[in-house]
Amino acid sequence: MDEREHPASRDDGGRVGRGAERGPRDDDADSVARRARSEWFRESCQTLHERFAPLTEGAPASYIPELARVEPDRFAIAAMTVDGERIAVGDCGHLFSIQSISKLLLYGLALETHGRDAVLSRVGVAPTGESFNAVELDHENTRAPNPMVNAGAIAISDLVPGDSLDERLGVVMRLFERYLGRQPEVDEDVWASERATGNRNRAIAYLMLSHGIISSRVEESLDLYFAQCSILVSTDDLARIGATLANDGRSPITGEQVVPRHLIRDLLTVALTCGMYDYAGEWAYSVGVPAKSGVGGGIMGIIRGAGGVAVFSPRLDEHGHSVRGLKVFEELSREFNMHLFDPDGLATTGVIES
Ligand code: GLN
Repeated sequence: MDEREHPASRDDGGRVGRGAERGPRDDDADSVARRARSEWFRESCQTLHERFAPLTEGAPASYIPELARVEPDRFAIAAMTVDGERIAVGDCGHLFSIQSISKLLLYGLALETHGRDAVLSRVGVAPTGESFNAVELDHENTRAPNPMVNAGAIAISDLVPGDSLDERLGVVMRLFERYLGRQPEVDEDVWASERATGNRNRAIAYLMLSHGIISSRVEESLDLYFAQCSILVSTDDLARIGATLANDGRSPITGEQVVPRHLIRDLLTVALTCGMYDYAGEWAYSVGVPAKSGVGGGIMGIIRGAGGVAVFSPRLDEHGHSVRGLKVFEELSREFNMHLFDPDGLATTGVIES
């Protein structure tokens, strides 16, 4: 545990909520405290970036050949608060494919479009303890285990409405546009590479078709799934998506309600319990924030009421998570008491109120 005391962690210095009897002086004190806290966070990200840059363990994903072509030493750490303040260290504007982080956004869309019951009848919420691409359904073969593993995510993509791939991809792109505040782009080479080598995902999809879990437009839904995974994002973008989810679904930048507030609970629950697949237990124990990773090298964490944090570094461990990303999150969680169940954490002390 880091015992370092920062000015921003002292007493009232941590409080930014607007109470009933507050005057201009309190607001001044708040903004000073807020600035001090974000400076502290920025310094820590900088220190962690320097500390973990020499770490070259792991390797970029190679089962999707196009992903093996990334520059393995890229490294970025970004954060955005629910007030829209941005912190960026390293290559935060560099674009890479979002991969499985897209699954969380698509899950929100499915719940919004079809409602909880219809979605739950096809995709459960049970963590699997298996790798993300396991060819496995629930015990009775009636549902995909959860929306964060490939099986569940493919079933969720199958639920995207529309009469053609173009129309359905349009729905996904418009969703991303609301999160990102700009027109998203699919990396055509990654998309083609996933399509050419995605036979394991095909096996999962046809298994689900045989059990009546998905519709018969299997190849189209797979193509849509490959496309959503190939959407390009930056580390800044991921921090912004995380901040939107941390802000109960409302974009801190545009003020738009990107995902309905009542769905946030469902999204953050599956992110915490299933977002890191067979590493989810260790992650919950050591980091303790709802999160989603992708084999492109990104990890996005959601600190509810505070903001989003994202790390990009393409060298992955055996679970498919960014090696440096895991390290950075562990350290930040410890230093800033981000763990959901931390007695001194944000959630319990109300350090940040909205
Ligand atoms: N497109 C990748 C796949 O289907 C996504 C996996 C991931 O990011 N974990 O295998």
